[in-house]
Amino acid sequence: MSASAVEPVDLLVIGCGAAGLTAAQQYVEAADREGRAPTVAILERAPREERGGATRWSWVNVTVDREGVVDPHVIDRVVHAHPDVDADYFRLLERRGGETVAWLEAHGVRIAHERPPFAMSSEYGAMVGGGRALVDALATLLEERPGVAFRYETEALRLTTDDEGRIDGAVVRGSDGRSSRIAARAVVLATGGFEGSLEAVTRYVGPRAAQIRPVVPGLRFNTGDGLRMATELGAATSGQFDRLHVQLVDARSSKPDAGLFGIPYGVIVDGTGRRFVDEGSATFEALNAPLAWSVWRDRAATATFVFDDAARRLPGFGFLNQSDLEPYSADTIEELAELIGVDPAALADEIARFNAAVAAGERTGASSFDPAVIDGKSTHGLAIDKTNWAMPIAVAPFHAYPCATASTFSYGGVRTDLRARVVSPGGTVLPGLYAAGVVTGVWYGEYPGAMSVLRTVTYARIAAEEALAEIAAREREPEPVAARTALAV
Ligand SMILES: Cc1cc2nc3c(=O)[nH]c(=O)nc-3n(C[C@H](O)[C@H](O)[C@H](O)COP(=O)(O)OP(=O)(O)OC[C@H]3O[C@@H](n4cnc5c(N)ncnc54)[C@H](O)[C@@H]3O)c2cc1C
Repeated sequence: MSASAVEPVDLLVIGCGAAGLTAAQQYVEAADREGRAPTVAILERAPREERGGATRWSWVNVTVDREGVVDPHVIDRVVHAHPDVDADYFRLLERRGGETVAWLEAHGVRIAHERPPFAMSSEYGAMVGGGRALVDALATLLEERPGVAFRYETEALRLTTDDEGRIDGAVVRGSDGRSSRIAARAVVLATGGFEGSLEAVTRYVGPRAAQIRPVVPGLRFNTGDGLRMATELGAATSGQFDRLHVQLVDARSSKPDAGLFGIPYGVIVDGTGRRFVDEGSATFEALNAPLAWSVWRDRAATATFVFDDAARRLPGFGFLNQSDLEPYSADTIEELAELIGVDPAALADEIARFNAAVAAGERTGASSFDPAVIDGKSTHGLAIDKTNWAMPIAVAPFHAYPCATASTFSYGGVRTDLRARVVSPGGTVLPGLYAAGVVTGVWYGEYPGAMSVLRTVTYARIAAEEALAEIAAREREPEPVAARTALAV
């Protein structure tokens, strides 16, 4: 491979999603404060029109309330979820999350706090315009900035090091197929996860994992390169490698993010027409990921969301179900079963028993139905009761969406310390190398929702500040003795 060096930049940022854009912007601002003239190169594998990776397609809900407080219950849940969770990482996120949201708002994106008319497990903020707004706001600022260069359709192939092992740039390949080296004083890995590579997903998650397709097109650029490049240099890993964050989508749809979130307001059945989960066990956004994972892992990736016309007419039901296709609809449960390829007698029997258990729940004094709160309206007497929002499936026409499991992001990634520095398995810092976002692995078990962009932006800002501090410290360092001796001769 031919690789020619070009003028060194201060900071080389690999990736152009929330992590990369935030790191670049924060670096420029911090360097300005110190009276420097910073130079930054941002690599993006995608063409400009598709820049932004997962972030571009993200809803960007954030676990921060109106007062800028990160929900401490959510942090507690994460910290206690698994012995390998880095509790300090999340405690720092808890302290700095509010400041992160304020920083985003100061850079032209707005976080709104309007709630849908359905119960949620926490008070979230939501970015107005989603992740596209974040990408456009930060990229526009950076494009106008002298000293900052975007290189689209350019992919990083490997990191380079100096004689002492300090990371000092990367070999990259442009769309003409030629490679070159970009020299840099520090590098931030912001390449997202490996969810876009079916090879990597199969390798880490296991057989059948390639059934789990990326939920949006932007994920196809995320092929685990940051993880590969860093581990080639001895970086440690963390996070659960055999687990992805997933969601249920309409199996028939090719629309990006054709999410199905309405299951708490109906039932979900497997290929035999039987229910297999308490659909009321969690609010719509909390239920979705573990349910989607279980559908893929335990139900041969086959399940169908069944609901009646009363549910369909709930205000906001279209917000919960984002498919571009109409559900299957029929006047009887048996006819609906024919449409979805389930034994009609089995589905009719299952729905009849479910409806009888709703009535039994009402006789035992279960609360009344209220989709906006955790209402406690339960079935009674089933092997798997539905513990909230239990209403009979009785109002024709009846509807069904076939469900598939789609990936949102991978869990496993590079290990970093609290200063966003990439570390070895022994805890030694790899000098000059920082990472933020999904390329860093932090999750085990269940991801609680609304924390991925928050942690991405928080630690990308830290990465930029730390990179600048490292560069400044190196400038202050006396030259090595050998170099001084040579000069004196
Ligand atoms: C549909 C959807 C909804 C979501 N909703 C939420 C939500 O509500 N709240 C939340 O917190 N999170 C949400 N997420 C998750 C969140 O959006 C992501 O986890 C986060 O945006 C990741 O940011 P990132 O910068 O780490 O990665 P990305 O935004 O994926 O950016 C990675 C970038 O790296 C580039 N790249 C990769 N490899 C190379 C290479 N070798 N050379 C050059 N460039 C490379 C890619 O092209 C891409 O631009 C959602 C995700 C999806 C898909």
